[in-house]
Amino acid sequence: MPAFPDAARAALADTQLRHNLAHATRTIRDKRAGVVAEVPEWEELRLAGAAVKDRALHDLEAQLLRLEETLVAHGATVHWARDAAEANAVVVDVARAHGVDEVVKVKSMATQEIGLNEALAEAGVAAWETDLAELIVQLGDDLPSHILVPAIHRNRAEIREIFLRRMAQVGRPAPTDLTDEPAVLAEAAREHLREKFLRATMAVSGANFAVAETGTLVVLESEGNGRMCLTLPEVLVSVVGIEKVVPTWAELDPLLRLLPRSSTGERMNPYTSTWSGVSSGDGPQEVHVVLLDNGRTRALADAVGRQALRCIRCSACLNVCPVYERVGGHAYGSVYPGPIGAILNPLLRGTGDPQTDSLPFASSLCGACFEACPVRIDIPEVLVHLRSRVVDGHRGDRVPKPEALAMRAASYVFGDHRRLAAVERTSGLAGRVLRKLGRKTLPGGRPAVEHLPGPAAAWTGARDLATPPEESFRTWWDRTDGGRR
Ligand code: SF4
Repeated sequence: MPAFPDAARAALADTQLRHNLAHATRTIRDKRAGVVAEVPEWEELRLAGAAVKDRALHDLEAQLLRLEETLVAHGATVHWARDAAEANAVVVDVARAHGVDEVVKVKSMATQEIGLNEALAEAGVAAWETDLAELIVQLGDDLPSHILVPAIHRNRAEIREIFLRRMAQVGRPAPTDLTDEPAVLAEAAREHLREKFLRATMAVSGANFAVAETGTLVVLESEGNGRMCLTLPEVLVSVVGIEKVVPTWAELDPLLRLLPRSSTGERMNPYTSTWSGVSSGDGPQEVHVVLLDNGRTRALADAVGRQALRCIRCSACLNVCPVYERVGGHAYGSVYPGPIGAILNPLLRGTGDPQTDSLPFASSLCGACFEACPVRIDIPEVLVHLRSRVVDGHRGDRVPKPEALAMRAASYVFGDHRRLAAVERTSGLAGRVLRKLGRKTLPGGRPAVEHLPGPAAAWTGARDLATPPEESFRTWWDRTDGGRR
């Protein structure tokens, strides 16, 4: 994947994409603000939610062992996966053991994180997404661009075209008279998926929460497709990040209140499914739970960054982020986009790769993400922390980055008042020259240059350059005796 600035360039040039994103994020944002305002104790709830997750993370090993114990006691088989390869191998082995060539899937960002669909495809097993938005992404050979609404970058006309073109190739075709009415599109998806639900003998899910005390996995969803996956097939494999553990059933309470209002802007989500291992004669008769690390213990070891593991994947931070609203999710190069992706990916994968290193800089640090986060993750604090780590990681580079050179030059200039005065004089001269070249006036009346030549064009490629003032404060002070002349 290219680094964020390169990946974002194409998205910024796509006006349809920007229109789709702006419309969708504004709608969800307004809905969320309305339902959050209905809860006078919202701040207390946020504190309670953060405390529950912190308690689980503080005591993670013990909570996970307890979860394993209670799951096994209820007839589930627990697997521990250090990384994507180990987790994928478990799911592939279960599929092979049952001789299945297709599985239905629901609600699992963790499986997208580890590339499970691709691993299953290599083993000859087709994996069908059953969440409507994920189905759209899958049929469109696309990538998810939002945590909650993975197809947020698509509009109704595009979805109709995808259904007409692709559904027939992988199952029940879309009706030939398909329109782009949301209800008609949803009905086509329902008919298409029903065939798959009734045929599949194995399902793969994720979990929003895993309760250690009772060995209960919890999935929240809006369409009911998740419940079909969790109840109809004979075999169920749930891939669950180790940070999803919640100590007790009672502690689910604040989280179940925070999540729907923060994500879909609903007071309560339509479907909350919970299951504990195997129930004789009811639902899947073989249940596997894969507890996935894949960088989570690395994130946990980071004293500042570990708060990112509180994330309940509500997507509120995406919907308020001015950067996300303009570039969408693909530019982040991960299943976790937006502000949470900008910190979670470097924490899970480690810094040092140009793509990952670019993510902490994909933010204006306006703080809106922290204000919106239901579990009070201080994303700006973690962004700054990760930026410093990225910068530290490049201190020994033989060829310093332009930013490092600029900072060194600034340090030299600011280190001596005579040097600073000389630069101010040059800058005033440059201001007079540029003022003659500038054809644009910024709000407030200051002239600006739209295009600079040479390497400096990289700066003006995305913004106008306000011309430097012709007179520095120091010169003004000398000339006017501090405003007295
Ligand atoms: S960081 Fe907070 S706001 Fe963003 S998805 Fe996670 S829980 Fe939601």
